[in-house]
Amino acid sequence: MAVGSGCAAEPPDGGSSGGDGSRAAGSSSAVKPAHGQQRSKESGEKGAGEEAGKKARKEAGKEAREGAERADPAEALAAYAQRMKKTQAARAAAAKRWRLKQTPLLAPAPPARKPKITTRKGFEVDHQKGLPPVFTTVPTKKKIVFLTIDDGAEKDPELLRMMSELEIPYSAFLTDYVVRDNYGYFEKMQDRGVALHNHTLNHRYMPALSYAKQKKEICEQQAKIEKRFGKRPRLFRPPYGSYNEDTLRAAKSCGVKAVPLWAAEAFPDHMEWREWDRDLHPGDIILTHFRGKAEWKGSMADMIRNVMKVVTAKGYAVARLEDYV
Ligand SMILES: [Zn+2]
Repeated sequence: MAVGSGCAAEPPDGGSSGGDGSRAAGSSSAVKPAHGQQRSKESGEKGAGEEAGKKARKEAGKEAREGAERADPAEALAAYAQRMKKTQAARAAAAKRWRLKQTPLLAPAPPARKPKITTRKGFEVDHQKGLPPVFTTVPTKKKIVFLTIDDGAEKDPELLRMMSELEIPYSAFLTDYVVRDNYGYFEKMQDRGVALHNHTLNHRYMPALSYAKQKKEICEQQAKIEKRFGKRPRLFRPPYGSYNEDTLRAAKSCGVKAVPLWAAEAFPDHMEWREWDRDLHPGDIILTHFRGKAEWKGSMADMIRNVMKVVTAKGYAVARLEDYV
């Protein structure tokens, strides 16, 4: 895989994804306490207070009934289908505006439970057990792929608009030294529903560094992202896709749950494939970069047009990585 300044793959090529027993990616998402719902029990409910209380209980009952209706599987499914139909119509119009060859396909509803993810065969380190799994494809039978964008040098406002209007999900893996001149750009991205993940402080080649230095590169970026964007990443991608046991140990020590690599890489004018069949497969992770016309032959929008042309022509939809990992 010949790649300029980006994240070329180094690990040995394995067979199919899967492999020996590793741990599943942790999936417990924090539940926020429902503020504004605390009601003091001591305060006597009388007069106006009682009326208010009655009203609140009535409202709560109504909400519960509606919730129960929504919970009816057939109705929920119908409502979902209706919503998706609307979404897809808006998307077709957006696809035209953004000069996409075809309207992006609609991803199926996210799974109720995330799949168990194991390290890809041939990608294990010596003592892989208990360390975050390293994988290039998410186990699924659905015709979906995932789009991930690395580094963060190019901060093209057009990309934010384009992806929002097309409703194409993607995940960003950020390296601080190229991001820090404009954190605001990635804040806007996050506001649009994009999850921000860890791609180290300085984009160093991890296997050349000591455990302590790797830990600094990974864990200080964890802290930085948490401090700047309010959320500690669960996912980490080593620069160039290169790692050793120290990398995974260091990542685990500061909260990384999984290490997604990629099965294909997108450019404005071509794709590069990891697999011998030079094709997409269900659950494949696609890598691309925040780059501009100075670094490659086109804009971010050109790159998205190209990758979506390939993805859609092959019958795949782009799904949200965080719904599965
Ligand atoms: Zn990179």
